[in-house]
Amino acid sequence: MPSKQAGASRRGNTPLLDVLARLDDSTSLGFLNGPTHPHQTENTTMSERNPMDRNTTSRQRALVVGLGISGIASALRLHRAGWDVVVLEKAPERRRGGYFIALFGTGLAAAERLGFADAVPNRVAPESVSYDVDRTGRRRRGLSYADVFGGSRLVVRGDIEDAAFTALPDEVEIRYSTVPIALDQYLDGVDVEIRDLTTQTTTVERFNLVVGADGLRSTVRRLAFEPEQSPIRRLNYMIAVYSLPEPIPGYRPKDGLTMAEAGRSVWVFPFADRLPTVMFSYRTDDVDAEFTRPAIDSLRAAYGPEPTGSTLGWLLDQFEKAPDHLFDSAEQVHLDHWHRGRVVLVGDAAWCLTVYSAMGASTGLAGRTCSAPCWNATPTTCHERCRTGRTTCARSSTTTAAAP
Ligand SMILES: Cc1cc2nc3c(=O)[nH]c(=O)nc-3n(C[C@H](O)[C@H](O)[C@H](O)COP(=O)(O)OP(=O)(O)OC[C@H]3O[C@@H](n4cnc5c(N)ncnc54)[C@H](O)[C@@H]3O)c2cc1C
Repeated sequence: MPSKQAGASRRGNTPLLDVLARLDDSTSLGFLNGPTHPHQTENTTMSERNPMDRNTTSRQRALVVGLGISGIASALRLHRAGWDVVVLEKAPERRRGGYFIALFGTGLAAAERLGFADAVPNRVAPESVSYDVDRTGRRRRGLSYADVFGGSRLVVRGDIEDAAFTALPDEVEIRYSTVPIALDQYLDGVDVEIRDLTTQTTTVERFNLVVGADGLRSTVRRLAFEPEQSPIRRLNYMIAVYSLPEPIPGYRPKDGLTMAEAGRSVWVFPFADRLPTVMFSYRTDDVDAEFTRPAIDSLRAAYGPEPTGSTLGWLLDQFEKAPDHLFDSAEQVHLDHWHRGRVVLVGDAAWCLTVYSAMGASTGLAGRTCSAPCWNATPTTCHERCRTGRTTCARSSTTTAAAP
């Protein structure tokens, strides 16, 4: 089984992991024990007895599903707390690049605690100018991200993933093209049915903890938390994102621009050392209909019928030619609890805040320090605990001040 490349390993503590590290003493773990009666959902069962009795190792095993920012951060922290960690990733290989991201204090502090903050670059271009523009070509100097959020680090998503991944020790086992398809919970473990998408084979393995870090449309969440009601709330907005292949005609390579109209906008995010990324964002009454045609057709419809003008027209043409793009709806996840028995959620899988909050990556990194009592609490109680310093969690700005 392929493993991560070599790296350093060390132990550490967080409020969550203090508790998780004692998982072998199940009597002290009321929060993870779940109901005392058998509980069953469509694909998830939980019972008091463990008929399979296949836990053969004294070390605790954690399964992290998803190799994005939240999954890598979770794997890193669990490994440092002494867990054996396996990561499942649906994609055949690690993704690269991505779109513009501002990493704020919460995320930077978490990256520091995880030991890779210095490896996250800052691509802010001090000489960059950001313009507010309209279709007719009028432009005036506006505010850039760096102007407004001076302390943040401006990167692409892949920068954070690369930095975190490089810090991940060799002992963490990563399985690509692999997904969970069913979870059976017992008081002393979770049996996970795992599908290898390359060989089309399925195996069942026992873990002491399952971390769902598999993003907005999380499979772990569906298997362990739903099907009662979907926690996804649509905002009725679409986003389309890509990287520019060359500077915008009439603009310097390190300049940005914003075109804001009622219900639709375009942002060009510049960097010091690479070409900008572009984000279209528009309102729609029918999200499903936006996916029924090629993304460029939905975009052209959304930004019409008025003439585009040269800059917007050029940006749309580049989107059509781009080898790679993201086209998606903006949605939030609303859950009262972020764990069920031994299954916990982090990052977008748990609390997706949407692109508009610009806090998904930061809270994804910080979320792995979220304490177990927090996961067991309602959001309000959770926030109160954080506010009063009794624990730390991704919902609170006090995370930045938390001990490692
Ligand atoms: C355009 C845009 C701009 C943004 N800007 C910012 C910003 O400025 N600041 C900020 O903090 N955040 C920003 N965000 C949000 C941020 O990118 C996300 O919140 C963050 O990347 C979520 O990370 P994650 O690891 O939780 O989930 P994801 O990045 O979604 O990663 C999930 C991983 O799980 C894998 N996976 C999915 N399903 C399965 C499965 N069944 N089995 C195995 N693996 C699976 C996926 O392949 C993926 O690798 C932005 C988002 C967008 C779209």
